[in-house]
Amino acid sequence: MMDQATLQRFPLSDIETAMFEDGGFCILCGEPSDDAVESDARGYRCGVCGKPGVHGAEEILMMDLVD
Ligand SMILES: [Zn+2]
Repeated sequence: MMDQATLQRFPLSDIETAMFEDGGFCILCGEPSDDAVESDARGYRCGVCGKPGVHGAEEILMMDLVD
């Protein structure tokens, strides 16, 4: 179980754009995914921090990490 306090938050506009473009974000370092991911992707490896933090846009919305 990840500590919620360490997770990044994302602006709604970024998430909306990502939903149209199959984008994802790393919830650990906040960087966008280089590769397209499914909107319900969870725990993909991040090319920036190397941790399994990349989640799809819809998943980030479900996790309530959107402002
Ligand atoms: Zn990362």
